[in-house]
Amino acid sequence: MIPTDKGGYLLMVNNYTFSRNHQGTNMFYCSKRLASKCRARVKVRGVNIFWSDLNHNHAPPNYMIPTDKGGYLLMVNNYTFSRNHQGTNMFYCSKRLASKCRARVKVRGVNIFWSDLNHNHAPPNYEIINSSRREEVLI
Ligand SMILES: [Zn+2]
Ligand SMILES: [Zn+2]
Repeated sequence: MIPTDKGGYLLMVNNYTFSRNHQGTNMFYCSKRLASKCRARVKVRGVNIFWSDLNHNHAPPNYMIPTDKGGYLLMVNNYTFSRNHQGTNMFYCSKRLASKCRARVKVRGVNIFWSDLNHNHAPPNYEIINSSRREEVLI
């Protein structure tokens, strides 16, 4: 779950994000529902997905994910990238230190204009994020 500016949550499944029409419902619709007329949707119970239709008619978007520290994580193809300090346009793989991964992405605004996506490790597990804690879950 990714908190949004509006106080709601985005749900991320297989690199696609889903949002609900209004809080309190358990049905999440693909964030590209209007833009791409995508019909993919996910029904949750608590933090578990118990029903889903994941037939998207578009490629997964890439994401900027706000972090607790006021920075951003960049998500590309299920891998996350972070920058060393704010103000730079170069994002490095989050496993850079742990796995000595050299993958990195350069952005201009919200667009990626250069990338080296040769990771030396598998993508991290899907993450559920809320404002107070952050946990990794397997789907
Ligand atoms: Zn979709
Ligand atoms: Zn990597």
